[in-house]
Amino acid sequence: MKKKILVIHTGGTISMMEDPTGSVIPGSENPLIAQTSQLESMAELHVVEPFHLPSPHVTPKEMMELKLIIENEYSSNGVEGVVITHGTDTLEETAYFLDLTVKAPIPIVVTGAMRSSNEIGADGLYNLMSSIRVASCEEAIDKGVLVVLNDEIHTAKNVTKTHTSNVSTFQSPQYGPIGIVTKRGVVFHHSPTYKECYDINGISNKVSLIKAYAGLDSSLFHAIKELDYDGVVVEALGQGNLPPASVEGIKALIEKNIPVVLVSRCFNGIAQDIYGYEGGGKDLRDHGVIFSNGLNGQKARLKLLIALSHTKEIDEIRKIFAH
Ligand code: ASP
Repeated sequence: MKKKILVIHTGGTISMMEDPTGSVIPGSENPLIAQTSQLESMAELHVVEPFHLPSPHVTPKEMMELKLIIENEYSSNGVEGVVITHGTDTLEETAYFLDLTVKAPIPIVVTGAMRSSNEIGADGLYNLMSSIRVASCEEAIDKGVLVVLNDEIHTAKNVTKTHTSNVSTFQSPQYGPIGIVTKRGVVFHHSPTYKECYDINGISNKVSLIKAYAGLDSSLFHAIKELDYDGVVVEALGQGNLPPASVEGIKALIEKNIPVVLVSRCFNGIAQDIYGYEGGGKDLRDHGVIFSNGLNGQKARLKLLIALSHTKEIDEIRKIFAH
């Protein structure tokens, strides 16, 4: 029996074409839609295209729209798996947003392409085909939202775009993929140990993301406070430290009950409260900074947006970031 798979096209290079000048652009029609018939032997496909955007144009509003489409198609039409095609620039963010919010116990796979549809070695149709295979697979259930490109299966939580143009750009630093796609089948070799899901009706808060550097001072943090942001994520140095000149600005935010979440700008490891000097992780934790458990900055920002839709209690937000 073929599985009923919902394919949601959202735009990105996977649906674009290179023009004679060498620019990659969206056309009036998504070439993937015309190619659907080549995939119909794999599953019963139901194809929708709620928007057609390069992924730098995607915001949490579109992510929320995708969540609602998936939940509605699951409860009203009994879809058994979902594949989303998406631009690769913000793919990991949409995947993680859905991982944290979608209430539907079916495989959800996000994919994209590094080469547009008419380029030599175009990887889009192949990645779409691999993703349909993963979304149709029983073992993909209960693994959270998955990202499938280049024959690898990654979790939304750990995957990140690591290269500007290489087709093997999606990697999970420190953890690796949780499975592979071969010509003969789909093989999972790991399972995520923790699943979290937050009930949200919308995203209305403002959260900024600041990257630390040698000599960072407090001015940006004061500006964020004046601009009425609801939260801030800081990509701190090393194990979770900041220059001393930035501490006063961080303290001013926390005094105003604006949560400050710390991740590391290192892409391996977890930010922790190890160092006790001024601006060190221990000092920052003592001032009320929240440490995130190994997320990168862009994902911690989305998690804080989602957490703030739930609660403004700093201790509650701290608990959400413990996982
Ligand atoms: N800039 C493109 C996008 O994210 C890149 C891609 O899709 O690969 O829409």
